[in-house]
Amino acid sequence: MIFLGKIHELTDILADQIAAGEVLERPASVVKELVENAIDANSSQIDVLVEEGGLAKIQVIDNGEGIDSSDVELAFKRHSTSKILTKKDLFKIKTLGFRGEALPSIASVSEVELETSAMNTAGTAIKIKGGKILEKKMTSRSQGTTITVAELFFNTPVRLKYLKSIQTELAAISDIMNRLALSNTDIAFSFSSNGKNLLQTAGNGNLQQTISAIYGVNNARKMLAFSNEDLDFKISGFVSLPELTRASKNYISILINGRYIKNYQLTNAIIKGYGSKLMVGRYPFAVLAISLDPLLIDVNVHPTKQEVRISKEEQLGKLIKKSIAQRIAPENLIPNALKNL
Ligand code: ADP
Ligand code: MG
Repeated sequence: MIFLGKIHELTDILADQIAAGEVLERPASVVKELVENAIDANSSQIDVLVEEGGLAKIQVIDNGEGIDSSDVELAFKRHSTSKILTKKDLFKIKTLGFRGEALPSIASVSEVELETSAMNTAGTAIKIKGGKILEKKMTSRSQGTTITVAELFFNTPVRLKYLKSIQTELAAISDIMNRLALSNTDIAFSFSSNGKNLLQTAGNGNLQQTISAIYGVNNARKMLAFSNEDLDFKISGFVSLPELTRASKNYISILINGRYIKNYQLTNAIIKGYGSKLMVGRYPFAVLAISLDPLLIDVNVHPTKQEVRISKEEQLGKLIKKSIAQRIAPENLIPNALKNL
């Protein structure tokens, strides 16, 4: 009798689909990954177009570095990245991506068309569906990348079934676009849904104007600039006057070294900075940008990279709370914010 082992390696496509299950929860996750790639490619302009909450189409157009013709197929292979090379790099990540998972994951659960051109090279177009290359050809395109995703989750029916309504998916995309725009004020973003423009930023590096483009000029006028630092952390941003609040914490954005993250402790530090000035169940608007040595943060905690581990988090929380408390103390409420709006 021959004993044959039961264990075998998964095919690439299956492995990519499994990764997709973690990285791509919903259309907004695809938008996030694609826009982050465009940001990492040093684009100065990024246009995002979606149809039917991203289910019919997601398109991201950038004017970044583009992908060399010889690298295009590799970009869709799992664990292929241009962003890190050695273990040392992993501990001081400066790019938004580094896991080399997004493109293969997306291509394994949708139909992707990528058109790209790197500096001084002919452009390349490639079409992949369910992980299989359908077509690859030369194309003419100015430097940059256009990626179009259609039929998202066509081969993962359960994922498709559990998506929320088109409105809810669109709201999630809109939310992530807002956070990405707040995190990258030097990039001009446009975002449209079914042909209707929902967001347009100038990309001139001005956070006040970006806040105004997203939350409206009247709200932006009620936000105050603040900044502070200690030996390890530099913090800056805008917080709302105690009178400008909402019933959810969704209007608080925390950015670490340009990456939008979610962190319960730091969000609470912002809220605690208001002391008793907020009514129960009401939360401020805030954009808090933190810069720190990349050695103090581990972003490799979850595939979506929104959850991070920060050393000296308590110290950082205290700095945030103290700085906001000082800024909104009555004697400091000089309305100097947003005077140039
Ligand atoms: P990661 O971002 O973790 O490196 P991805 O799967 O998202 O992995 O992308 C793989 C590679 O494809 C990137 O490392 C980058 O070299 C290239 N790439 C993807 N999108 C773009 C883009 N918009 N512009 C230039 N290069 C890109
Ligand atoms: Mg990426």
